[in-house]
Amino acid sequence: MSPTSGLVTAHALPSYLQADHLGPWGTYLQQVDRVTPYLGHLARWVETLKRPKRCLIVDVPIELDNGTIAHFEGYRVQHNTSRGPGKGGVRFHQDVTLSEVMALSAWMSIKNAAVNVPYGGAKGGVRVDPRLLSRGELERLTRRYTSEIGLVIGPTKDIPAPDVNTNEQIMAWMMDTYSMNVGETATGVVTGKPVHLGGSLGRREATGRGVFTLGVEAAQHIGLPIEGARLAVQGFGNVGGVAAKLFAAAGARVVAVQDHTGSLYREAGLDVAALLAHVQAQGGVGGFAGAEPLANDAFWGVDCDILIPAALEGQITAANAGQIQARMVIEGANGPTTPEADDILHDQGVLVLPDVIANAGGVTVSYFEWVQDFSSFFWSEDEINARLVRILKEAFAGIWQVAQEHKVSLRTATFIVACQRILYAREMRGLYP
Ligand code: NAD
Repeated sequence: MSPTSGLVTAHALPSYLQADHLGPWGTYLQQVDRVTPYLGHLARWVETLKRPKRCLIVDVPIELDNGTIAHFEGYRVQHNTSRGPGKGGVRFHQDVTLSEVMALSAWMSIKNAAVNVPYGGAKGGVRVDPRLLSRGELERLTRRYTSEIGLVIGPTKDIPAPDVNTNEQIMAWMMDTYSMNVGETATGVVTGKPVHLGGSLGRREATGRGVFTLGVEAAQHIGLPIEGARLAVQGFGNVGGVAAKLFAAAGARVVAVQDHTGSLYREAGLDVAALLAHVQAQGGVGGFAGAEPLANDAFWGVDCDILIPAALEGQITAANAGQIQARMVIEGANGPTTPEADDILHDQGVLVLPDVIANAGGVTVSYFEWVQDFSSFFWSEDEINARLVRILKEAFAGIWQVAQEHKVSLRTATFIVACQRILYAREMRGLYP
């Protein structure tokens, strides 16, 4: 032992990384703590998962249409790149914080490892309410943000994608801005692009399709028929809207929905196609004529078989978990359930299909898009959907088995599988220098 080695101790986590920090990052750290006893000798590396590799905070100034200058705060966090380049969406929302983006990036590391796509985890965001911006302002914001994070993103470094309030158009602006800056058209720098611009067929629906596919799979395991099942869906955007449409097509009844504009209820089941058209035209479910309005708090207690949170994190908490009637919760959103609520649901016998596998369909087809961009050879939608379903079902079967083996929740089982893959890669690569 060298004379100084006794002085070298692990440094305490910086305050902003600590578990008692409320919010999604605290939730994530508690999830890692729960899985650590199952990691065997790899637990030696677990600290890696508790610290993001890289956090970039950027100032995003834009000129508003009225001539004034507005500044927004933007982030790009690369949580872990042991298994490959960073991968994860970009969120535009007024409540985005660094700690939220850190948690979302960490869940991307877990999710990408859980479905075994060759990526690490990353996420980005801008603290802005995009609904208050004109189209021109939104484009300037997107382009300036992309330029600012251009230091760390790239087709083999870190590949953004859509998330809350970002879509194909925003991905097209991001791709164009990055391409202008590097002097070549680099379609592989983002996924979730328009199909005519290197995007993939099936990407827009992929997350909702994954929620549906794995929901059906999990329902079979608990003997819950989809035909006639009653569904409640929070968030009726890309993920919730598509999942609701697929479940309804399979014979389920969507009895309740909630989004940022209100909550609705219809015992006989909502007309999902009509509601999607209403949301497209009006920006939210509020004011839809084909249902009764429901008090927002009453949404969680609605009599249903399947509950799909598909909006934001931290929605199912100790305060409302006890009201949940569903037999199964499918987490379309990232981080919708707090650890306390997880325990309550477990005690009530509710099966929770966790985000880190339930909504992995999006990143799986993003991976297909990235592969297609590199090879400049594009697949048919049937081919894409078949490969998606195969990957998700295989991943789910492995996770189900681990859950049975260790008698743990599907969340812990998914974390066991994913953390082992990430930390094995970490160990094999070794530390540099
Ligand atoms: P989106 O912007 O298309 O839709 C978001 C939905 O959430 C909207 O219906 C909105 O009204 C609702 N919402 C926002 N704030 C709300 C509130 N306070 N209460 C109730 N509803 C509220 O976003 P999306 O892409 O559907 O993402 C939804 C969730 O799914 C997020 O957690 C996101 O991280 C996750 N996710 C998305 C993808 C993807 O491919 N888009 C992939 C994996 C996970």
